[in-house]
Amino acid sequence: MKVLTRLDDSLDLPEEERLLLDAVRALCRDQIGPRAAAYDQSAEFPWDNINAINELGLNGMFIPEDYGGAKMSYVAYLATIREIAKSCAATGLIWGTNFHAVKPVIDFATHEQKTRLLPGIANGGLVSLCITEPTAGSDATGMKTRFTPDGDDIVINGGKTFISTGDHADLFVLFGKWSEIENDKAAISVVLVEKGAAGLSVTGKEDKMGQRAASTVSLSFDDVRIPRENLLCEPGDGLKILFSALNKSRPSIAAHALGIARAAFEDAVAYINQRKQSGRNIIEFQGIQFMLADMATDLALCESWLWQVGAMIDRGEEDVGIEASMVKMRASDLAMRITEEAVQLHGGYGYCKDYAVERYMRDAKITQIYEGTNQVHRQLIGRSFIER
Ligand SMILES: Cc1cc2nc3c(=O)[nH]c(=O)nc-3n(C[C@H](O)[C@H](O)[C@H](O)COP(=O)(O)OP(=O)(O)OC[C@H]3O[C@@H](n4cnc5c(N)ncnc54)[C@H](O)[C@@H]3O)c2cc1C
Repeated sequence: MKVLTRLDDSLDLPEEERLLLDAVRALCRDQIGPRAAAYDQSAEFPWDNINAINELGLNGMFIPEDYGGAKMSYVAYLATIREIAKSCAATGLIWGTNFHAVKPVIDFATHEQKTRLLPGIANGGLVSLCITEPTAGSDATGMKTRFTPDGDDIVINGGKTFISTGDHADLFVLFGKWSEIENDKAAISVVLVEKGAAGLSVTGKEDKMGQRAASTVSLSFDDVRIPRENLLCEPGDGLKILFSALNKSRPSIAAHALGIARAAFEDAVAYINQRKQSGRNIIEFQGIQFMLADMATDLALCESWLWQVGAMIDRGEEDVGIEASMVKMRASDLAMRITEEAVQLHGGYGYCKDYAVERYMRDAKITQIYEGTNQVHRQLIGRSFIER
């Protein structure tokens, strides 16, 4: 494991971020990791993990100090999400969703909106990012949810599907179309809906293959009335907000996937170092060593690219869409491949729930699908080379 540990240690984080990361590792080792299998089985929302994360004040690391947080670097955030996902992917998804969902508020909300909404999130509130609809998945611009201005209010009608944490969220960052704008794409707008809004209801909950304790629900907005001051930016600014949000959330999905991949790799290495067949430890067979060599090398390269993209975002570079697509696509494909090979290296035991690799393989799959499927990312990356 030396080469990967050296790569981890080479992350040049300031002392305070390093100390926080150590505290996260201890929390994952002592609490979150040991509870992961039971949460996977029960599919119950992991409140004690979320409460423990909030005791460490982790939401604060992405919220500016002026609004109750203690903002740290994006690289530190990526390193944290990777650690949490390594111990429990479902808990990582819940915490990561908080970041993905609240980032548009941090980047685009007015001072009044931030003062009103962010301190509660810094203190442990949960946020949902509501984009997908039953007929608008990969092409989110096909969404039908409608925002109709009515005096000082906005009236919302529509439905969302596959919304992470939607049954527990305190705040919903909701995408829809402004009724007064005719052009389909130009109409996309964003509003902020607070918990308890009349007409907002949870209409279904998914029973998932993996990341089972992270809830994924359908939401209905039936004449939901919110004050106009809950509009984010101007009507029609939705696409700008969406693209900016995705540039930050896609590397986060990569970090999450790499956490799962790293857990699977470490478990597999430990297992084949002690499992014997034909009088030798399995790791001594050359065919097995070739598998490890490919997995470890790809992990090192992908992790290095993750830190590179993270550093670009910390430097304030905005044009990082292709880099974000590349790291999301490659990290999630790698997580799927490594978790599948980790099952293979465990033989028949890997197919049984006594070993965590069985869960890692199920948890990894969704990372290739959400935040843009990997087919969509391949298109985005390939298209960027067309000379116009
Ligand atoms: C566990 C989970 C959590 C989620 N969390 C959230 C959330 O918090 N908020 C939210 O808004 N959404 C969320 N999603 C939704 C997720 O982002 C979508 O599922 C994803 O964007 C794909 O959309 P779809 O499922 O409708 O698939 P579709 O778009 O119908 O795609 C089906 C298949 O067709 C392929 N395809 C589609 N278009 C093209 C194309 N142009 N070229 C080539 N292939 C194409 C896709 O790659 C895929 O293989 C979540 C989903 C899941 C399962």
